[in-house]
Amino acid sequence: MFDVKCDVAVIGGGPAGLSAAMAAKESGAKNVMILERDKSMGGILQQCIHPGFGLAYFNEELTGPEYASRFFEKDKSLGVSFVPNTMVLNMEKNGTLICSNGEKGMMAVHAKSVVLAMGCRERTRAQIQIPGTRPAGIYTAGTAQRLINRQNEMVGKRIVILGSGDIGMIMARRLTLEGSKVVAVVEIMDYLAGLTRNKVQCLEDFSIPLYMSHTVTRIVGNNRVEGVYIAEVDEHMQSKKESEVFVECDTLLLSVGLIPENELTKAAEIAINPVTNGPEVNQYQQTSVESFFACGNVVHVNDLVDHVSMESEIAGTYAAKYALGQIEPEEGFVGCTPGANVRYICPQKIRLDAERKPVTLFFRAVRPQKNVRIIASCNGSTIYEKKAFKVNPGEMEKVTVDVAGFTDGQQLTIRIEEAV
Ligand SMILES: Cc1cc2nc3c(=O)[nH]c(=O)nc-3n(C[C@H](O)[C@H](O)[C@H](O)COP(=O)(O)OP(=O)(O)OC[C@H]3O[C@@H](n4cnc5c(N)ncnc54)[C@H](O)[C@@H]3O)c2cc1C
Repeated sequence: MFDVKCDVAVIGGGPAGLSAAMAAKESGAKNVMILERDKSMGGILQQCIHPGFGLAYFNEELTGPEYASRFFEKDKSLGVSFVPNTMVLNMEKNGTLICSNGEKGMMAVHAKSVVLAMGCRERTRAQIQIPGTRPAGIYTAGTAQRLINRQNEMVGKRIVILGSGDIGMIMARRLTLEGSKVVAVVEIMDYLAGLTRNKVQCLEDFSIPLYMSHTVTRIVGNNRVEGVYIAEVDEHMQSKKESEVFVECDTLLLSVGLIPENELTKAAEIAINPVTNGPEVNQYQQTSVESFFACGNVVHVNDLVDHVSMESEIAGTYAAKYALGQIEPEEGFVGCTPGANVRYICPQKIRLDAERKPVTLFFRAVRPQKNVRIIASCNGSTIYEKKAFKVNPGEMEKVTVDVAGFTDGQQLTIRIEEAV
């Protein structure tokens, strides 16, 4: 085992890790290292060859690889060390990372601060337990995306997609453009899981049918998928037997949610939020173990990569400040608790110190609602209010609050109410 020392170690070379490393370097950290298990940097964006990235961050429309390469080139010019083919296997609370490197073998990285940017993985058939046989032809949407866009392999000709998440809708369009017939996109909830813009651009523009409040009840086929049964569900998510129909297809894609990659986070005993399944963070993206910062999909699943970059720059900046001993002493903290129709708020805590810069809070609605007021309050007093035409669980919301007058132990709440 060989030992390496650095100021800031970043685990994961996706858009979160690339942005965090850039900001850490720009904030004065000398040795910044990205440890990435893949052979190249860019994370999931390497397989997202469609446009739609960068509208908020660069004010222009880029593909995933173009978006990632902008940060990669910037990191290169700043002197960030890229360490590909390196899987971080374990993480100790003192900042020691035990890694396996494809060429050099085992490696111990000793970092003054660490940025967790491991992204997330897709839920599979095992997690949603669809009954039926176990034939070939069942893929997660992301696996199909990788096969088609990076390996030039087609996955099937007649496709059913379960789940209306963004990856599933984007793959419905991709498969159609490649000559497959997408016969149905099936969503168990009565609202969309992904962005409305993807429903319009990926399904409606290609006349792909979307069945809300429906699910796949059974998979049929021996060697290869031959079809699936689809049924409507009631308000308790139970399928209505009488509505069940057989749909012939040779491929089933699953777009049924993402799970933040937090096995390492748990090993270092960092507090995990039970709703997001990611580490709890303050507005500096600092976790409960103070030398560890976290950003991107490992914290909470983001719909837009632009938000990932913005929050990751904060993580990188404060990881550098921590490594350089520049973080202001803590004067207390304010907890952030979701109120009516809010599923979670990120960050979960606001650290109080001499900085007192305005804080942006990201949150998601529990259910869709139209003509609403979004209200942030601190210990019962309203500190921010805005009207919105609609909220949707598939689309992340944000508010920025002034924290200058906050005091230790207060509670901030965000709630969504019907506008009167
Ligand atoms: C399959 C899939 C497809 C997606 N498609 C789209 C899309 O089309 N459009 C869109 O806007 N958003 C898409 N997203 C959302 C997208 O993931 C986020 O916007 C963004 O990529 C998140 O960035 P990240 O850096 O947090 O995660 P990632 O891009 O997932 O990067 C995480 C990186 O960490 C590395 N890593 C993980 N664990 C370790 C370890 N132990 N050691 C070393 N390295 C490690 C991974 O190899 C990976 O490179 C997709 C997500 C997934 C999962």
